[in-house]
Amino acid sequence: MRLTVLGCAGSFPGPDSACSAYLVEADGSSGQKFHLLLDFGAGSLSALQRYASLTSIDAILLTHLHPDHVLDACNYVVVRRYAPDGPYPSLPVYAPAGAGQRLAAAYDGGSEGTLDDVYRFHDLQPGSLQIGPFTVTVDRVNHPVETYGVRVEHGGKVLAYSADTAPCDALIRLAQDADLFLCEASYVDGEDNPPDLHLTGRDAGEAATKANVSRLVLTHVVEAWGSPRKAYESAASVFGGPVEIARAGARIDI
Ligand SMILES: [Zn+2]
Ligand SMILES: [Zn+2]
Repeated sequence: MRLTVLGCAGSFPGPDSACSAYLVEADGSSGQKFHLLLDFGAGSLSALQRYASLTSIDAILLTHLHPDHVLDACNYVVVRRYAPDGPYPSLPVYAPAGAGQRLAAAYDGGSEGTLDDVYRFHDLQPGSLQIGPFTVTVDRVNHPVETYGVRVEHGGKVLAYSADTAPCDALIRLAQDADLFLCEASYVDGEDNPPDLHLTGRDAGEAATKANVSRLVLTHVVEAWGSPRKAYESAASVFGGPVEIARAGARIDI
């Protein structure tokens, strides 16, 4: 499978990146590529058009309903509902309960009704499900709203994605022996960080070590508040494998 980083900025769009959105592609049963989008943060619809056709998304998984992870799902309504050759068929969206109402409210205050013509919402629950060619396992992680970390398996390879989380056991389980661990590192080590919200670079490195992952990619780094270099150094001080900082436009074959 192939991961494309559409956006990796932490908490709000950064100077060089949209907010969280990751495109995961693999061959589907029909021999056609299947495109799964993990999160759809502010600004990421722009980047999507550089790496895939606008209407090629087959399914969307939203880890939680914070705006930096979902807002372009509102903009994408216009793409599918009002396309000159549309409307396009509705898409499955796997998300925490209430996503449909939240996105409809953000779209137009709910005045035009639901978004059910565009999206078919499925409430996430801890456990595994099949999305196209991917076996996807989700579990609740440690963030102030209902949030799911994600493990995506295909062809014997594993991509794990932390979503937003503070340290927790579920994160280690989801990332166990992953080929690639895409892990947030929002906070700077050594600062007085609030509990139960986010990870530091060191936390991400420790989780990578405990989970025995092959490769760690730090994401959701908040450039305006911290330093990607510090996040890298903190993580690399406690994880012996390869560490890198996610950048918008990175394409990684797993
Ligand atoms: Zn976030
Ligand atoms: Zn969040």
